[in-house]
Formats: sequence, structure tokens, C-alpha cells
Amino acid sequence: MPSQASDKNAPPPLPEPLGVPVADSHTHLDMQSSTVEEGLAKAAAVGVTTVVQVGCDVRSSQWAAETAAAHEAVHATVALHPNEAPRIVHGDPGGDWSRQGAREPGGDAALETALAEIDRLAALPHVKGIGETGLDYFRTGPEGKAAQERSFRAHIEIAKRHGKTLVIHDRDAHADVLRILKEEGAPERTVFHCYSGDAAMAEVCARAGYFMSFAGNVTFKNAQPLRDALAVAPLDLVLVETDAPFLTPAPYRGRPNAPYLVPVTVRAMAAVRGVEEDVLAAALAENTARAFNY
Ligand SMILES: [Zn+2]
Ligand SMILES: [Zn+2]
Repeated sequence: MPSQASDKNAPPPLPEPLGVPVADSHTHLDMQSSTVEEGLAKAAAVGVTTVVQVGCDVRSSQWAAETAAAHEAVHATVALHPNEAPRIVHGDPGGDWSRQGAREPGGDAALETALAEIDRLAALPHVKGIGETGLDYFRTGPEGKAAQERSFRAHIEIAKRHGKTLVIHDRDAHADVLRILKEEGAPERTVFHCYSGDAAMAEVCARAGYFMSFAGNVTFKNAQPLRDALAVAPLDLVLVETDAPFLTPAPYRGRPNAPYLVPVTVRAMAAVRGVEEDVLAAALAENTARAFNY
């Protein structure tokens, strides 16, 4: 007899296919249980024909670049995650991002070495973006702030020098992220992944021309401020993503997420905007291609 726990871990069923194909603008295939081929096939079966595979550390960035080179449907971004940068400097074993266990403190030199590899990967043709980078004050405490900010500024510089898209991870750090972008000068194309600001911030992003990528949490009951932001964001700056395996949309919250669940979020977003699903999907597809210059 299946227990409640095993139901909760079961992959949600395939949604109805979208009439117009879209891209998952931010996913982590390397953290999902299916193979890349299975994941892409399931996604394509419901109209999610393109994915942006996002790197979080040196190893996963190398993997993202290799995977994008091997699959037409995959584009890569490369970076040290804002929670990874302090870990490299301080050797903090960290939370659930760390797949390599505790590390020796590496100091600033180790951060420079890791950034040099991100810089090398940034030149590759299948690498379309630099990210996810930014600031995370939720998981990283005050002791990690300096390393995080240094890494963020370095990633902005790399993105601009290579003409690649900047992918921002901003958790509980809106004001500082916007300030640093302004101080450094944002790259031509900047994406706020898993957009988490309110409607007022969406207006700031709109004026700056930043893309806002909405994830499954836009469907959560308590996420009205996020839906208010989606309602006012210019349609040509809106993207959709899974951030899979995280942030599975309702009604599957808590179960494993994957790119094939994008249609669930697209339908919720269409309802918020009061537009036809196909109209929104066409805009999302066009916007993602423009955001990542593919
Ligand atoms: Zn993120
Ligand atoms: Zn992510």
C-alpha cells in the first residue's frame, strides 16, 4: 500500500501540452532524478522545447557547458552561486548546495581560481549567460556578505566582457542587488531568476529593462505580492522557469519539480495576466530567446 510519504515523493503527472512551445528559463537538470535525455523528452512532450541549464559552482558550471554542447535544446549559464562564493573563501560546509562535503578554507586566492574557470567557460559558444550570481541573505549570514558581494561584482564584469546575459539570484537582498547593479552598470541583458520582489520593485526592474522570471512559487497561496508584480510587469520582460527540482507549482507543491511542469505555471500566469495561454506562451518563448540571445 503506498504511504503518504511515497505519494509526496512521486513525480507529478504530465500536464496537458502547451499549444505554443516555451522555454524553461532556469533549471538544474543535474539535481533531478531522471537522465538529461528523459527530462528533455518529457518536457518536449508538453511543449517545453528549450531549457536553460544553470551552474552553481565550478563543477556544475562545467557540466552545464558540456550538456549544452551535447544537446540542441539546452543552453548553459555558468557561475558560483551566491551561497557558494563564501563557502570557497571560508571553507564553510554549508547547506544543501554543497555536494562535495566540507571543504578546507581557501581564502581569496581560491575564489580567484574559481572565478578564472568561470571566466574561461564564459567564452564558450553554448554558454549564454553568467549566473546564477547575486546576493542571498537568507542562507548566508553577515560573515559571508563580503565574499558574496565580491563574487557578484566579478560575475557582472565577466558577463559584460563576454557579452553574456547576467542571471541574478536575489533572496532577501533586493535593495543591495539593485544598488550593486547600478554601481557596476548592468549588462545589456539581465534576468532576475525566481523573481521575488513586489509590484513596486517590478516597476524599478521594468524601467531598467531587467527581465523577471517567474517560478512555481507564483502559484502558492501566500504569494499574492508576487502575482501583483506579475500583473504589472511589462509582458515583453516576463519569463517562466522551474528552478527544478525546487519550487514545484501548486497543486504539486513539495513533490519533485522538472521542466515538464512549466505548463502548470504558465497557466497560472495566464490567469493572473488575464490573457490567453497561447498569447502568453508566445511572448514567453520570444522573451527567453531575446533574454539569452539564442
Ligand atoms: Zn537561485
Ligand atoms: Zn537555481
